[in-house]
Amino acid sequence: MERDKKIIKVSVFGIIVNIILVIFKAVIGLIVNSIAIILDAVNNLSDALSSIITIIGTKLSSKRPDKKHPYGYGRIEYFSSVIIAVIVLVAGLTSLKESIEKIIHPEPADYSVISLVIVIVAVFVKFFFGRYVKKQGEKLNSGSLVASGTDAISDSVLSLSTFVAAVISMIWHISLEGYLGVIISLFILKSAYEILKETVNDMIGVRADSEITGDLREKILTYEGVLGVYDLTLHNYGPNKIIASAHIQVKDETTAKEIHRITRKITYDIYAEFGIILTIGIYASNDKGEFGEIQKYINLIAKDYKNIIQIHGFYVDEDEKQISFDIIFNFDEKQQDKIISEINQKLKDKYPKYSFNIIIDTDFSD
Ligand SMILES: [Zn+2]
Repeated sequence: MERDKKIIKVSVFGIIVNIILVIFKAVIGLIVNSIAIILDAVNNLSDALSSIITIIGTKLSSKRPDKKHPYGYGRIEYFSSVIIAVIVLVAGLTSLKESIEKIIHPEPADYSVISLVIVIVAVFVKFFFGRYVKKQGEKLNSGSLVASGTDAISDSVLSLSTFVAAVISMIWHISLEGYLGVIISLFILKSAYEILKETVNDMIGVRADSEITGDLREKILTYEGVLGVYDLTLHNYGPNKIIASAHIQVKDETTAKEIHRITRKITYDIYAEFGIILTIGIYASNDKGEFGEIQKYINLIAKDYKNIIQIHGFYVDEDEKQISFDIIFNFDEKQQDKIISEINQKLKDKYPKYSFNIIIDTDFSD
């Protein structure tokens, strides 16, 4: 796939840049005996490793679906992000330990002008490289790339501080090495935490982006015969594969033939435009005359409950004498069942010839 090839290209570029930086910094750090510069190199090394894992993850996740994994391998990218986070975490902890030792047993660094020049050049390389990777990551919708780009930008700030510390040490002979090392370590730990947090969230499943759900809803509503769109859910199988479902409401006299035509067209167009595989369920609607009054009454009752955010799917089955509709509560409501039975009672009192079938829907999307 084009996207995967581009991600891999950016990542390979990242590995090369980082390894060059690691070599220069490690050599300089060892020569001038600067723990800050050495840790900076360690930090860059963990970035290079991250890029290698990004590539492996992208390669594996683009594997074709098979019988055992019919949803494809897209979610492997989440695992590769977790592995990156763990590597960064270990690098951070090791750096922290080394820096604290350096504070307790300080060894003066011995900077030279040439070492400072190399450090400052590395700062700029890292900064512009980070911005490039982040932009590409946003363009390609790759969480790993955005993460490593962001990481590189914050690293360039850290490298800048090693430069500043070196200048201070040369002019005033004050060594900030150990303290700076602690700060660098904390930054490394922070980026590990952030990658982990985001990835774990994706694995648990987060609320769909309201921009996407808004666009989908709007698009589906444009089709003739569609009176409403409800219960839109999106499932991610990796960053590039989304399976979705929605209910659409149509007039109850709409024929199977017409429904077939509408839903086929919608699913086809949604896939073409958004790359989303959509399954559509049908709600029939009849809210004329007396039925409309009942529906109004339901909405009136619902106003008393501040945690009800939507009522939809209203339908009167005259043959079975059953009225059904769905209620969505926001997640704060703890007493859904109690409220449902209260509403049920009020409706029965007012319309004794009907029974009421109230379904609780989950507030999946905006
Ligand atoms: Zn529903």
